[in-house]
Amino acid sequence: MSEKREFQTEVAKLLDIVINSLYSEKYIFLRELISNASDACDKLRYWTLTNPDIAKPSGQLKIVITPDDKEQTLTISDNGIGMNKDDLINHIGTIAKSGTADFVSNVKDNGSVVDLIVQFGVGFYSAFMVAAKVEIITQKAGDEKAWKWISDGLGGYEISETTKETNGTDIKLFLKEDAKDFTDTIYLRHIIRTYSDHVEYPIVLNLGTAGEETVNNASALWTRNKAEITDEQYKEFYHHISKNFDDPWLTLHFKAEGSIEYNALLYIPSAAPYDLFQPDRQQSLKLYVNKVFISDKVEGLMPAYLRFVKGVIDSSDLPLNISREMLQQSALLAKIKQGTVSRILKELKKRIKDYDDYIKFWKAFGIAFKEGIYEDFSNREEIAALSIFASTFSDDKLTSLDEYISRAKPEQKAIYYITGDDVATLRNNPQLEAFKENGVEVLLLTDPIDEFWTQTLTTYKTFAIKHISKAEIDLGIKRNKPKALDGDLKKLTDLMSEMFVKEVGKVTVTEKLTKSPAALNVEEGQMSIHLERLMRNHQQQTSFASTRILEINPYHPLIIKLSEMTTDDKNKGKIADISRLILDQAKITEGEPVSDPSFFALKFSEYILNGM
Ligand code: ADP
Ligand code: MG
Repeated sequence: MSEKREFQTEVAKLLDIVINSLYSEKYIFLRELISNASDACDKLRYWTLTNPDIAKPSGQLKIVITPDDKEQTLTISDNGIGMNKDDLINHIGTIAKSGTADFVSNVKDNGSVVDLIVQFGVGFYSAFMVAAKVEIITQKAGDEKAWKWISDGLGGYEISETTKETNGTDIKLFLKEDAKDFTDTIYLRHIIRTYSDHVEYPIVLNLGTAGEETVNNASALWTRNKAEITDEQYKEFYHHISKNFDDPWLTLHFKAEGSIEYNALLYIPSAAPYDLFQPDRQQSLKLYVNKVFISDKVEGLMPAYLRFVKGVIDSSDLPLNISREMLQQSALLAKIKQGTVSRILKELKKRIKDYDDYIKFWKAFGIAFKEGIYEDFSNREEIAALSIFASTFSDDKLTSLDEYISRAKPEQKAIYYITGDDVATLRNNPQLEAFKENGVEVLLLTDPIDEFWTQTLTTYKTFAIKHISKAEIDLGIKRNKPKALDGDLKKLTDLMSEMFVKEVGKVTVTEKLTKSPAALNVEEGQMSIHLERLMRNHQQQTSFASTRILEINPYHPLIIKLSEMTTDDKNKGKIADISRLILDQAKITEGEPVSDPSFFALKFSEYILNGM
């Protein structure tokens, strides 16, 4: 008896797009179906090794491609794990992944159906680019029953019980008129070699009366000798493993020998994936034990700040029959991690010498990579050395800490930085004025993570790392005090302190400003204003806020004039207005809201008018 079912709404929408897509490189469906067959073989192999009493090996694992010229069909068969009825319903016909709705609307928007199909792991549906009808006959390893699934991709699907001789899956495609090419064995051989050569199971082309022919190399790429692997093969394997379509920025293939032996084939993509900043920060390397796929979710195989690294680690020293949970705590795994991380850092050290090359990596992954300064205690100096930052030295080029140091003044003992929301605004921050005039470089940090790593890495080489607004900085500036200030500004600062008692902790005189009358600062050791704002935006704000300091510039004509006015009591109202405008202006340059916007707007125009 057959049972009719509807596709999940998202699947129906997706299929609608796939079926109507004008995408010309339709041959990618074959790579997707072969990749699924290969996954099914991986699963069965793992299963037979870990549960020998339940699962019986089904002979040599392989994938068979059978074209039928007369019937216009193409069948992709495997003797892997197979599917039971629930699997068919839950894995085919449903997209279980979160963000599916976004996914479907994305496809609509930019039309690159294939990139998205692959990235979101819904490769099976690409079959409908070439097939008017798809028939799946499958039997799960260890089960008695077999199942038939049929769909035209439009009106849902039908499931019924059937019989099958062995476990595994046959996927039969009834080819559309314009997809007849896919029964042509020359063409098939070509696309299999091009896109699926790295698959480690034999891909056998069934030539009917002419026999069978294994088309691919069928050995795990990472176990092969480097010298025998072409760039194209590395690239194709990268596409397969990462589900990305870009070219890798870095390809790193090595064999580690020593207390633990393993093969690693690692890649750094050239573009950031859409999920780089998902909260789980999952790493995605695939772990194999002696060529048996174990998992691509092994925590602790790669640190989170290198979660964008793709590839394979294969070690025969790890116990195969170990639970994935135990694996995570294995000391061997920690050694592998240590080894691969140091290899990656070593490679980056070479590449950072070529700025134009390195900036590509940095733009894609710098923000994630910098998390390592904060998180990876044992490598943080090295990670800091591999990080580059915007600075006042150059308008467009980023600088490394070592380059910064090479330009430091002879008497300079610190690397100075300022934090804020964006570089362009930071460049005009009044607190930079004296630094600029004295030719002291300041790093302009705008990523949230910058607020954190600067708390853990407080020195680099012999240099202290200092936020310019938090430190009392003696830049050795020599300026002549203006005549009018031979006394001091005490009367003015006292007045202002009293007036702003609710908003600022104190009002002080600073040497750091040259052009602006005032700037807002925080007490040494407290959270910077930028960090406080970040916390507030993430609703993590406790009631705690840093104590603000209003710093005024004793050289500024406005401050001088204001100070002079304090000698006459009849100026009281004016002084209050102007002081308030000065505080507001300091708040605005820090990206903070003014406390009374309508007062600000009113007085602002009033005083402009007075000056006209
Ligand atoms: P992905 O491969 O990224 O999971 P697909 O759309 O390609 O996404 O496949 C969906 C799911 O269908 C697979 O995860 C798997 O559970 C199941 N599947 C597809 N093809 C096979 C097969 N040949 N053997 C067993 N299961 C399969
Ligand atoms: Mg797939």
